[in-house]
Amino acid sequence: MTDVVISGLSKSFGSNRVLQSLDLRVPSRQFVTLLGPSGCGKTTLLRLIAGLEKSSQGEIRFGEKRVDTLAPGDRNIAMVFQSYALYPTMSVARNIGYGLEVRRIGKPERTARIGAVAKVLEILHLLARKPKALSGGQRQRVALGRAMVRKPDIFLMDEPLSNLDAKLRAAMRGELRRFHLDLGTTTIYVTHDQLEAMTMSDLVVVMNEGVVQQIGTPEEVYARPANLFVAGFIGTPPMNLVPARHEGGVLSVAGAKLPVAVPPGAPAELILGIRPQDLGVARPGDAGTIPGKVWMVELIGSERLIEMEVAPKLRLTAEVRARQRAAIDDAIAFRPDPAQIHLFDPATGASL
Ligand code: ATP
Repeated sequence: MTDVVISGLSKSFGSNRVLQSLDLRVPSRQFVTLLGPSGCGKTTLLRLIAGLEKSSQGEIRFGEKRVDTLAPGDRNIAMVFQSYALYPTMSVARNIGYGLEVRRIGKPERTARIGAVAKVLEILHLLARKPKALSGGQRQRVALGRAMVRKPDIFLMDEPLSNLDAKLRAAMRGELRRFHLDLGTTTIYVTHDQLEAMTMSDLVVVMNEGVVQQIGTPEEVYARPANLFVAGFIGTPPMNLVPARHEGGVLSVAGAKLPVAVPPGAPAELILGIRPQDLGVARPGDAGTIPGKVWMVELIGSERLIEMEVAPKLRLTAEVRARQRAAIDDAIAFRPDPAQIHLFDPATGASL
């Protein structure tokens, strides 16, 4: 088993610089997700690792072995695509075993390996069918089976769940995680869905505009975002990010003083971040709260979102229990949990 080590990797398409001198180490046997908005370069990075694209600069190693000079077939990886890319005229069994057939592995061994994988994926009863006679979720399993049967060193997965409906996607998240724990194969998984990244990964690589913003466990990127981009990207509803000032050791938002310690050397003008889940409702005038007027109220099942206008163009959202009521234009206040406040430097975006 080997780490995947990427150093100084750049890729441009014409004048479009998609990856910028990217460094990344994927530890052996881990499930690592590349997470970021559409167009940030996730798929390009995965295709470079697979050998489906050539880098403009940099190196990719699997352990000690440099692989970016090798053909895709010599890298011992298996890729699962969003489209599944099954052969429509072949049976499920032949689809799963085709990679073995190409490698001239004999029929008895092929049959045994196809059977073993189909058993794990619970698709034994589908082996004789053609892809068109399968549901989306079943096709997805066949595509996974085709990757698993090859026993690759590394799985590369490009949004493999995005064509499934929400319920099946949720079920498959758990199954993929379970397969990973059973097989222990290093997996690099691309998604723009933070729920997938947070629920399945050992490590999340948050990317934006071809640059790695933060690498950490799901807990780390959620609880200690390295910068404003990660803070705003991870979490639903997104973290509130508002201008704040500190003077003489006192931090204030729109004139409201908050009991928050500011690290020494922090600039006078800051950005304060607080998650909607870390704001409680209080009465206007209570100490340590930010007053305002209810701007919008939304019930989202067992929770309620209350959006409060603090000043023109400055709003905060709190997520509270549904029994907490509020009416539009009510005067209220939000109490931030002082232990859950994040501070950022507005010039660099870095967490303080
Ligand atoms: P998505 O989630 O939408 O798939 P992504 O983060 O995977 O996005 P990429 O598919 O890697 O992003 O694309 C990154 C950038 O590279 C985009 O601006 C895209 O237009 C460009 N790009 C990707 N492939 C090519 C190509 N073959 N030729 C030219 N430009 C490309």
